[in-house]
Amino acid sequence: MSVKVCKFGGTSMADGTVINGVKKILDGDDKRKYIVVSAPGKRYSGDTKVTDLLYACHTQLLSCGTCKKSFAAVRARFVSIVKELNISYDIDALLDETEAAIDREKSEDFTASRGEYLCARIVAAVLDAKFIDAEDVIFFKENGSFDGEKSYKAISLAVSGAKRAVFPGFYGKGVDGKVKTFSRGGSDISGSIVARAINATVYENWTDVSGFLACDPRIVESPAKIKSLSYKELRELSYMGANVLHSDSIFPLRKANIPIQIKNTFRPEDAGTAILPSIRYTPNGNLVTGIAGKKNFTVIFIEKSHMNAEVGFICKVLGVLADEEISVEHIPSGIDTMSLVVESANLPKEKLELILEKIKATVAPDIIRVIDDIALIATVGHGMSSSVGTSARLFNAIANANINIKLIDQGSSELNIIVGVNNEDYEKCIRAIYCEFFK
Ligand code: ASP
Repeated sequence: MSVKVCKFGGTSMADGTVINGVKKILDGDDKRKYIVVSAPGKRYSGDTKVTDLLYACHTQLLSCGTCKKSFAAVRARFVSIVKELNISYDIDALLDETEAAIDREKSEDFTASRGEYLCARIVAAVLDAKFIDAEDVIFFKENGSFDGEKSYKAISLAVSGAKRAVFPGFYGKGVDGKVKTFSRGGSDISGSIVARAINATVYENWTDVSGFLACDPRIVESPAKIKSLSYKELRELSYMGANVLHSDSIFPLRKANIPIQIKNTFRPEDAGTAILPSIRYTPNGNLVTGIAGKKNFTVIFIEKSHMNAEVGFICKVLGVLADEEISVEHIPSGIDTMSLVVESANLPKEKLELILEKIKATVAPDIIRVIDDIALIATVGHGMSSSVGTSARLFNAIANANINIKLIDQGSSELNIIVGVNNEDYEKCIRAIYCEFFK
């Protein structure tokens, strides 16, 4: 039987009126049986997400021994949601219990997870559905990674017999028996996990946009909509900053080939974007599917004569970064040169200096230089691999915009070409690439 898992993001849970809209969406299709919710998000620009209010509660708890004062804002949000929903629900009792639990647990993850917990409890009441606590069905392993085998079994057991069920997103339980959260935006991953566990026909991810756009609308006015893209394209685009969906969301779905449909809670009639596994994906005919990017990378440039002949050179350099627990995003290289591209936020000044010293001591480079304020831009599309001259068009477009390319990285999958430019050229570069391939 065809079954859908629907995940609703923070803006879809922002207030009672929107939650009533969600109920209408769910009631309109009886395949929408399993629901995963985020914590209430922003109601207007300048508003604060409930999860951020909860992180503030944790900070206050650490300094004062109680979260009481900060929790007042969380309390107010949920009280007004229940009021707007016009349901009879003892929200005060649930909030009192939650506040006490936060003070008792003294755990950042536990505190942060309460937005999803409270929201799911309310939504379950609105829908007259079974509430399934994520800490009872989503598990992490000893090393902190997600335990699929155990979780999928627990979820399918928990939903059996339920006409409808609501799960809080964002968290599960660690081997220590304590609540543990995914990274920010992780309810998207929870939705994928539930979809995989029940072998859903489709995972609908309801947000406040009508799917993916070919690039950031803050940079290009009304960019083209992406009707469909592959898992791989999604991974590249979301990893590089297209933040409609958490970039780890596809992992649970991959083996089961479950498609994701991005939908807009505020415009449910819009088709949205379909994200398809390779076996269901047919190229959409466009050379380029989308363009995404991120600012603020640091490049460590290393040059040494005969680097290519020195066995283990790259390994030794990477060993230095691994010892300092710094992850490297890209490693473009030449015969006698290599560059390490690292997110600047992960590389404070002292750490950088230490790394430079260690690299000098380990491989004695001729030149080692640091280039700051680099933006990376990925041009992504399966169509690029089958078409001669795509990179020529890309580089021409960037040259015609008078932008200096600082580095180039292209995997042999030909799914994407990444260029590094100065931060200040970031927006201009995206516009130039967009104009070349979409206008
Ligand atoms: N509420 C969490 C956050 O703000 C998780 C999520 O929304 O997916 O990051």
